[in-house]
Formats: sequence, structure tokens, C-alpha cells
Amino acid sequence: MVVTFQNEPFTDFTNETNKQEFEQALQTVEQQLGREYELNIGGEKIYTQKKITSLNPSRTSEVIGYAARADQKLAELAIQTAAEKFEEWKAVPPDHRARYLYKAAAILRRKRHEFSAWMVKEAGKSWPEADADTAEAIDFMEYYGRQMEKLGERQPLTRIPTEDNEMSYIPLGVGIIIPPWNFPLAIMVGMTTAAVVAGNTVVLKPASTTPVVAAKFMEILEEAGIPPGVVNYVPGSGSEVGEYLVKHPLTRFISFTGSRDVGLRINELAAKRAEGQKWIKRVTAEMGGKDSIVVDRDADLEFAAHNIVISAFGFSGQKCSACSRAIVHQDVYDEVLDKVAEKTRALKVGDVRDFQYFMGPVIDQSAFDKIMRYIAIGKTEGKLVTGGSRGDDSGYYIQPTVFADVDPEAVIMQEEIFGPVVAFTPARDFDHALEIANNTEYGLTGSVFTRNRAHIEKARTEFHVGNLYFNRKCTGALVGVHPFGGFNMSGTDSKAGGPDYLLLFTQAKLTSELL
Ligand code: NAP
Ligand code: MG
Repeated sequence: MVVTFQNEPFTDFTNETNKQEFEQALQTVEQQLGREYELNIGGEKIYTQKKITSLNPSRTSEVIGYAARADQKLAELAIQTAAEKFEEWKAVPPDHRARYLYKAAAILRRKRHEFSAWMVKEAGKSWPEADADTAEAIDFMEYYGRQMEKLGERQPLTRIPTEDNEMSYIPLGVGIIIPPWNFPLAIMVGMTTAAVVAGNTVVLKPASTTPVVAAKFMEILEEAGIPPGVVNYVPGSGSEVGEYLVKHPLTRFISFTGSRDVGLRINELAAKRAEGQKWIKRVTAEMGGKDSIVVDRDADLEFAAHNIVISAFGFSGQKCSACSRAIVHQDVYDEVLDKVAEKTRALKVGDVRDFQYFMGPVIDQSAFDKIMRYIAIGKTEGKLVTGGSRGDDSGYYIQPTVFADVDPEAVIMQEEIFGPVVAFTPARDFDHALEIANNTEYGLTGSVFTRNRAHIEKARTEFHVGNLYFNRKCTGALVGVHPFGGFNMSGTDSKAGGPDYLLLFTQAKLTSELL
């Protein structure tokens, strides 16, 4: 039996040696900037005329790399290749498949800082944020490997003396993996390897802002010896190549993480039977969030304020779990707001290449424009307490922004901003706070800060989110510890990093033999 799963520890950056090693990894990565990355279809490296240019959002004059850009013809080749390979891969026993994941995890562990450094440069993650992303990617592979081994065992069924009955979880077929850019390694790796360890083959279409991190991970899979064609790497436009793949009759399932609108569109397209299609496509769609932190009258206010700031501004608020609404009991509202404002003003924003910066840029120009539009709306809907402007124009910097006295129904209280913006609203009492917390169409994460046991129990049943936390930040779910996924317009609640996740990539077959 393999050793019990344990989460990969985070790097301690107070340790000088660790810092030096990370600095060295950054230098190694910087020597590799500007390279080209080909498609990988069936192990074949394919160049394309058109390229995706990946920029450093902290310094937009710096090119991270150029990824090949697939068109529909190449997408067709990728899906045909995956379909062919499936016939072989599905016959590989579950524990053998799991071993590829353990091997890939071991390689990634050795190259840990290098991968984190790529994320500092390509996604604008601070060192600790990038480090956590890499650790989570390792966790996903270690965890899903073990889950598949369990799922591969004979399942317990009720016995009757006259028959031998067995239920086994067999793979589905070809999956389309469409991850977001905000966890360019962890989410991409988790979605891809879960599908593969369950016996499926996939076409991986990475997010267009972070194709290089995904290309680097393909190198790890190759090094781990995963057979060519099991994972086919096909960067390209979501609306062109992504939709083509989703609609394809050979597509058996789609595993998507990203925005609400794209998730809904994929769900709709996948529901329509294509010519020659023999199954109902399965869609797993994890989508946006509009996450609240509730602060009760008797909470530790200093601690609550600290956690609001961390949850709202870590990685510039670009997490589906980020806190974008602070709902505070009216008796302590001013005090919490003051504390949050003070802590926010103290945050250092800049090029995360440098360890000292807590917060970097947002991902690209369109994210920047969208967030600035929401900030303009916020100025009409609430009182600007701090921030509210763009930062240094060498990158996509936006000041961490706090709005106060915002109506719970206001636009910036309802729509996902996906940037460093948090809005405060007062609540009359705890019931009122929960009522506000539940008033969006989303339901991903939430936190409650309180010392009142009755309020904890009330929120436990009434606060309708997939991941509910007490006296803790609303970000930072750990694999195996906090299975992750949301309700309502936050998606299909697939609970990534949880014991049920692999079931989404399998179908159960029952065989019964009369004895
Ligand atoms: P996005 O714009 O929806 O893109 C996600 C992926 O979908 C990208 O690979 C994108 O490709 C692709 N895509 C875009 N349009 C498509 C289409 N019409 N058909 C098929 N694929 C298409 O989301 P994002 O900006 O990358 O990520 C941020 C969003 O993800 C936020 O809403 C956040 O809340 C959500 N998120 C949710 C979770 C969760 O677990 N619930 C976790 C992380 C992030 P291109 O890059 O080429 O456009
Ligand atoms: Mg970029």
C-alpha cells in the first residue's frame, strides 16, 4: 500500500537558504524567457505560424514565451489522437496509472521553485502564492493517485450466495480540459491528472494568458513517461478551439474551470447532440464566486480584519474564493472598516519578482479594464475608503481598494469583479448578516468570524456556500482537507481534492455471474 496522503508543506521564506534557492530559480527561468512552445499531439511537437504571446503582467515589456496556437484542424487531430489512444490507455490498470502521477509529483517536487518562478513571471504571483500553487499541484497528483487505487479495488456490494457480483469504475473516453489562468499550475494539473488517472485521454486547452506554465508541465509528464497521446497539449483561443472541442462528437466529457458565462455557454453547447455522437456529454463546470466574510459583534476584530485583507487582496483578489464582500455587525462596523483600511494602505504593491511585494498586478489588459470599470461603478455606489486608482503603468497594477457603506444589492456587491476590490456593508444583527451573505447568485466560499456558538451552528446550516469557514480566511483550500467547489452559479460543486472527485471521470459497471 502507498503511504498515506499528506499535504506538501509550504516553503518557509523566513529561511534565507530557501529565499536564495528561490532567487536562483527565478534567474534560471529568466534565462529561458522568450522561447517558443509547440503543440504536443500524440507526442508530436507541432509548430504553428500564429502564436500566443505570453507577457509578464508585472512588466508588460517582458515576453515570457510564445506558444503555438492551434486552429480547428489541429484541434481535430488532437481529438482523433486522444480517441485512438483511449483504446489502449483504458486497459492500463488503475494502480499503474496512479504511478505515473506519483512519478510526475516527484519530478515536480524536485523542480518546485522553478515552477513557482514561472508563475511569478507569467501570472504575477507573489513568491508565497506561487509556492502554494505548486504545492497544490503536487498534492492533487499524490491525492488522485491514491483515490484511483482505492476506486480500482473491488467495491463492497451485498452478497447473495448464488452469484458473484462486481462493480468497477471504468473510464469515460476523451475529455476536454479547459482550465483558468489564475491557478495556472494547480488547477490545470488537478483537472488533467484526475481525468487521466481515471483512465481517460484528454485534450488540454490551457488558458491563453498562461500557456507556458502548462507547456512546462507537459515536459514533466513526458519525463514521467506518460504515453504519448494520453495528454494532448493544444493552446488556442477559447472561443474558437475551445468551442470546437466542446461540440465535437468524440468528446465524452468536458472539465471546465473559469467564469460563469463561459461555463454556461459550454454547458449549453455540450447539451446539444452532435452528428454521430453516442452519449450524453458530461460537464463539470466550476465557475465564479462572490464571496463574503461575515464579522459578528463579538468576534476578534483585529484577527477578522487581518483575514479580510488577506482574503481580498492575496493574488490581487484574483481567486474564485477571494473575499469581495465584508458584512459587518453594525456595532463593530466602523472599527473593522478602520482596521481593514489601515492594513490595506500598508500593503506593498509592485513587481512580485521582488519578494517584498505582497501584491502584484492583475493578469492582462482586459482584466485591468474590467476591474477599473467596476471601481468607477463603486465610486457611485459607495464611499471610497482607500485605493481606487491604477498603480505604476509598467504593469497591470491596481491599488487595493476598499469601498464602504455599499448597499447589499449594489452592482459591486453582486457581480464578480475578480480584482483587488472589497465592499463593506453593515448588518443589523447576525440573521441580517446571513441574509445578505446569501443574496447573490453565487455560492462558493464564505467565512464567519464569531465567538458565538449558536451563531456558528446557525451559519453552518444556513450560509449556502460550498466551502464555509469559521474564524479563518475564505481562501486557501487544501487538497484532501478542504474539498473545493461551489453551489448555484459557482458551478457543479465537483469538490476538487475530495474523495468523490474521480467519480466524475468514471462510470460504474456492474457484472453479475450466476454461480
Ligand atoms: P474564463 O475566461 O472563463 O476562461 C477559462 C478557460 O475557458 C480558458 O482556458 C479560456 O480560454 C476558455 N474559454 C473561453 N471562452 C471559451 C469558450 N467559448 N468555449 C470554450 N472555452 C472557452 O476564466 P478565466 O478568466 O480564465 O478565470 C477566471 C474565472 O475562473 C473567474 O470567474 C473565477 O471565479 C473562476 N474560477 C473558478 C474556480 C472554481 O473552482 N470555482 C477556480 C478558479 C477560477 P482563453 O484563455 O483562450 O480565453
Ligand atoms: Mg501573461
